[in-house]
Amino acid sequence: MALEVAGSSPVGRPLKIAVVGATGLVGRTVLKVLEERFWDKDIELYLLASERSAGKTLDFLNKSYEVKALEYDVPEVDFALFCVNSELSRKFVPLFVEKGAIVIDNSSAFRLEDNVPLVVPEVNPNDINEHMGIISNPNCSTIQMVVFLKPLYDAFGIEEVFVSTYQSVSGAGMKGVFALNEEEKGGIYDDTPFPMRIYRNVIPQIGEFSEGFSTEEWKIIKETHKILKANLKIYPTCVRVPVEVGHSEAITVILKSSPSLKDVYDVLKSFKGIYISEESYITPLDVEGKDEVYVSRLRFHPDNSRALSAWVVADNLRKGAATNAIQILEMLIERGLG
Ligand code: NAP
Repeated sequence: MALEVAGSSPVGRPLKIAVVGATGLVGRTVLKVLEERFWDKDIELYLLASERSAGKTLDFLNKSYEVKALEYDVPEVDFALFCVNSELSRKFVPLFVEKGAIVIDNSSAFRLEDNVPLVVPEVNPNDINEHMGIISNPNCSTIQMVVFLKPLYDAFGIEEVFVSTYQSVSGAGMKGVFALNEEEKGGIYDDTPFPMRIYRNVIPQIGEFSEGFSTEEWKIIKETHKILKANLKIYPTCVRVPVEVGHSEAITVILKSSPSLKDVYDVLKSFKGIYISEESYITPLDVEGKDEVYVSRLRFHPDNSRALSAWVVADNLRKGAATNAIQILEMLIERGLG
């Protein structure tokens, strides 16, 4: 099916889009970003979530839509934006694909599979051409890091990457936000996704440990290798912090050459999707609701002219998830890859 962008109806009939996990943090943000970017398109929307949400309504472009329970008899749609955990994705994504949908999946279920492109539109847009019905959105921490690394990699070469993350509680979904809010009030949230109290704390564990590295740290390593098509040495430490929205990363890159700081600024400034702040640093509160990856505190180490450090911040729900997924959707439509 060749799709066209122009007009209110890209396929000559309403574009059928399902949002699976529409009631969650990523699902709701997907709806927001769709409203911002697809307001002029004729869309038939299918909102799916757990049985708990069946019958609830969500607004989209001034219209109310009823949420339906996700069941094995899935609707026939053009595109499905999956915003549920990886177990549910594994179970339900193939059912949508069987019915002719292209799925953009936010979970980690298919990210490292050979025939599934793992795409950040600013970084490896052409990988979407290889899709077989499923395209994965990378992990939120990986997305903002590769947007920063890609222009440096192309211009100067990269030998090693040292990264410490400061990841907000919304990265763990609704339950992460509930846990922080409840603990702030002095309570305990029984269903917390964190291994210990997060309020007034920082936790250097995201996921389970294997070979000394957490699941999140392995995701950063392996997903970056796949996206950049390079086995860079990456040394991550992933940390959960009591911030509601916005992931921060302290990154030091050992380049293969020794450019001037001006050369680095020029290369980063000309890369789509990056916002550079030369004067002051950017914090998570500054980036909430924004789509760019914010880079500040750029500096070379005085004893190593190849060691470039930066502070890189992005909204994990937008560029780290929803915006990236909608950018992929836009590319699919533009390229007629339906
Ligand atoms: P969330 O806030 O916990 O939302 C989870 C969604 O899954 C809700 O809509 C929930 O519906 C639905 N769900 C739960 N059980 C279900 C079931 N049995 N059947 C159908 N739907 C069910 O999580 P999230 O943060 O949005 O994350 C969604 C996915 O995106 C995850 O794979 C996550 O790893 C990934 N991701 C998240 C972020 C982030 O920053 N949060 C970034 C990148 C990727 P109910 O409301 O009915 O329970």
